[in-house]
Amino acid sequence: MKENKLPSVAYFCMEYGLESDFKIYAGGLGILAGDYLKCAKDKNVPIIGIGIKWKQGYTEQKIGEDGKPYDAYYNNEYDFLEDTGIIVKVKIRNKDVYCKVWKTENFNNNTIYLLDTDIPENSGEDRWITGQLYGWFKEERIAQEIVLGIGGIKLLRELNIQIDTYHFNEGHAVLAALELIKEKMESGFSFEEAWNKTRDEVVFTTHTPIVQGNESHDLTTLEYMGAFNGLKREQMIRLGGEPFNMTVAALRLSRKSNAVAQLHAETANKMWKSTAGKSDIIGITNAIHVPTWVDERIIKAYEEGKSLLKVHNEIKNELIDFIYDRTSVKLDSEKLLIGFSRRAAPYKRSDLIFRDLNVIEKLLKEHTIQIVFSGKAHPLDDTGKNIVSNLVTMMQKYPGSVVFLENYDMNIGRMLTRGADIWLNNPIRPMEASGTSGMKAAMNGVLNCSILDGWWPEACIDEVNGWQFGDGFESDNIDEQDRHDLKALYDVLLNKVIPIYYDNKTKWEEMMKESIKTTREYFDMERMVEEYYQKLYTK
Ligand SMILES: *Cc1c(COP(=O)(O)O)cnc(C)c1O
Repeated sequence: MKENKLPSVAYFCMEYGLESDFKIYAGGLGILAGDYLKCAKDKNVPIIGIGIKWKQGYTEQKIGEDGKPYDAYYNNEYDFLEDTGIIVKVKIRNKDVYCKVWKTENFNNNTIYLLDTDIPENSGEDRWITGQLYGWFKEERIAQEIVLGIGGIKLLRELNIQIDTYHFNEGHAVLAALELIKEKMESGFSFEEAWNKTRDEVVFTTHTPIVQGNESHDLTTLEYMGAFNGLKREQMIRLGGEPFNMTVAALRLSRKSNAVAQLHAETANKMWKSTAGKSDIIGITNAIHVPTWVDERIIKAYEEGKSLLKVHNEIKNELIDFIYDRTSVKLDSEKLLIGFSRRAAPYKRSDLIFRDLNVIEKLLKEHTIQIVFSGKAHPLDDTGKNIVSNLVTMMQKYPGSVVFLENYDMNIGRMLTRGADIWLNNPIRPMEASGTSGMKAAMNGVLNCSILDGWWPEACIDEVNGWQFGDGFESDNIDEQDRHDLKALYDVLLNKVIPIYYDNKTKWEEMMKESIKTTREYFDMERMVEEYYQKLYTK
């Protein structure tokens, strides 16, 4: 790639996962964005990031004495951030709100500009707009989206950076397009012309395969907040419908869109097929930044044809020590260690494996299997919190076999996806858009054992580089789906995973090798950056 020939891109995202303790991320979306900006640096391509400097970030979720998750927020200071000296002004609730612009290149990443309203120029309420990531709904969320979108465009103008393509990672940033339209209308174009010209500059990545997960706002609130940005109500309805759906608007304001895996592209096209005037949704499968997520020792052993199991056991023991430090539970490195960490959202079914104790209890009591869980529930999601509580109960019920690590973050993710033996994933198909933790595992020689959802159908060679279960079965009846997948999960565990792990280490090691071999290039972020250039950024 020749840098000077490539379109320059401004990538907008609510969150960036760059480093565990830099708490401006919540989960997969942010990790993807952080990995992307790191790889852009590795490849020396002209992509810059725009985001928010969160004062408190996402919840620090710990487990209380009662075994239930509780949320805590702390103010963070980051002395490495560079002050650009720029302050941009946006209008929220008909009031000027000032956004200070920081920047960071501290994680071997291309420059990311971060907007911050916690400055003395703002009143108390407005200082909290950039307080908590995904912490609030309605008005506060819209205010955050005005800062990211409209503030983001304004900061690019202040910096005088020329941008060819504006990339919205998720619908949160869609108000940026309203600012692009406004700029054009101010220089004399009609709304129609401005919309067309804006569409030509914007690309969009959609992430959420669940309709309710795609944020929408009622127009009255949007208008009151100032999110119309000079447009009329009818014009807003033409863009995002009524209520105003952020994803629908992004699809109508972009020249091209992508979903984050091939199966997800099918799902997304079905979901939005009745949306008139939307851009084409193609599939560009997610990937990971290898230096961030893959242990160098395992890469070296793989490349030199040395024993993978030996290195893996060393790494597994480090995970076991890490778990001991945090929980005082000492797992056994000779026994199968199952890793499972995800957001505690109901469709991910974190507790599926416990549904039939007649099958699983014996394995847990005899320590044939050990399971380590981690994951936060959204602070306002009581069902998710019950799932976490249930996992904690299982930890108490099966001491030494079940562990729950509180306050899931990049550090825990990093340890688990290299130190576990298998990586379990059992979402309700097709609700997992991509899932990048499985890629981290696969490249570390941690064998995926997963429903055929998200990225896995593209990589899985059953019983060669990991296992699938469920055969891609889908049902509208949740109970039927659960029963089917539970049986399939027990089948693969009892008849394949456990026998191979304990009785055929040669085959296990061979599978580890295949896991690395079949994923290390395709699911490397370098491929994704190239594909974004070829299929989204280049017209
Ligand atoms: C990799 C990672 C994710 C994304 O993984 P999924 O497979 O989408 O669940 C989320 N959170 C953390 C901390 C991660 O490291």
